[in-house]
Amino acid sequence: MRALVIGGGIGGLTAAIAMRRQKIDVVVIERDPEWSVEGVGITQQSNVVRAVHQLGIIDDYVNAGFGYDAVEAYAPDGKLLARVPSPHLAPGYPANIGIARPALNRVLGEGVKARGAEVRLGVTATSIADRGETVDLKFSDGSVDSFDLVVGADGLGSQTRSKLFPEAPPPAYAGQAVWRYNLPRTSDMDALRTYNGAVGVGLAPISREQMYMFVVTAEPDGQRLPQEGLAAAMRQRIAGCAPAIRELGEQITDDAGVVYRPLHTVLVDGPWHRGRIVLLGDAAHATTPHLGQGAGMAIEDSLVLAEELARHGQPQDAFAAYHARRAPRCSYIVERSLAICRGQQGLGEPVDMGRAAAEMFKVVAQPI
Ligand SMILES: Cc1cc2nc3c(=O)[nH]c(=O)nc-3n(C[C@H](O)[C@H](O)[C@H](O)COP(=O)(O)OP(=O)(O)OC[C@H]3O[C@@H](n4cnc5c(N)ncnc54)[C@H](O)[C@@H]3O)c2cc1C
Repeated sequence: MRALVIGGGIGGLTAAIAMRRQKIDVVVIERDPEWSVEGVGITQQSNVVRAVHQLGIIDDYVNAGFGYDAVEAYAPDGKLLARVPSPHLAPGYPANIGIARPALNRVLGEGVKARGAEVRLGVTATSIADRGETVDLKFSDGSVDSFDLVVGADGLGSQTRSKLFPEAPPPAYAGQAVWRYNLPRTSDMDALRTYNGAVGVGLAPISREQMYMFVVTAEPDGQRLPQEGLAAAMRQRIAGCAPAIRELGEQITDDAGVVYRPLHTVLVDGPWHRGRIVLLGDAAHATTPHLGQGAGMAIEDSLVLAEELARHGQPQDAFAAYHARRAPRCSYIVERSLAICRGQQGLGEPVDMGRAAAEMFKVVAQPI
């Protein structure tokens, strides 16, 4: 089998690795010629560490990030309320990993190439025609090619999704945005720290040297903001937070270092494929980050898709089996995360974060 993956993000790259493990030939196209990613970090929980272990790249991944085994909850005034140990799902490895997105991209990109997949940068598909027996494509660099199947891993604004399901609603703005900034890791920083309050704040270690701060705020519209002035705006958002956060905030001075993202969701209702073309990751199910599972769901998708492709002769049968295994968990993450988001804005019942996280762990600890 020969597969084309559209999108060289976390979902596309892990799909390429998982399919190569099943001896499927893979080409990845990524529209960004620089293959750049946001400069801040990402947190990944025990089910994701287990999934990366299954992908066969766990040591490179752990070495590139920072392992930690607990989550700490703080009151808005900065008082430590609880330190909750995290369950381990990959024996011998940390429960959770914090990792800089560029470091994760490097590990995944090297993993893809080492396993013999081809990566074409600065390329998009300009035409996709499912002929029944093959999918014929034209690319933005003028080349043409045919594949047995196509995986649309092109993220929240997926063009593959628009092509497959033109009737699907566009991404919906969730009413909140996240501000992120890298800081030097303090020596006592050995857990994910969360501060709940009118403004939600978190600190996550991502290497021995670095951690990042994320701040969740209600914002009137879902537009991106100009980069100029973002540092002052982020400091202003945390002005009423715990003293430790305000103190760290004094280091937020570089506009270019602030990553500001309004939060949108997508959940494709019904099948994630048509014919020989299937969606994966944010293209099918983009969540708000309240449960820290968006990329984790994409990585789990990749393993399941590759397993089902190895099991079934026809891609369509594999896609249906993949959807049946993944839709319940991914829908749960999108819907529970959105419930937390809405509760924080007074638009729904407030959700107790400790209980929500414990319930989520029970779900994601199940085999994928
Ligand atoms: C503020 C915020 C914080 C988050 N924090 C976490 C967290 O802590 N933990 C976690 O697990 N998840 C987190 N997430 C979610 C996570 O970032 C996403 O779920 C994850 O990046 C999805 O990966 P993806 O590969 O599906 O999509 P993307 O990461 O969006 O990758 C898509 C790729 O496709 C490329 N592309 C797009 N269109 C085309 C095209 N037409 N042709 C070719 N290439 C194309 C893009 O350039 C990109 O490289 C967070 C999300 C947000 C917004």
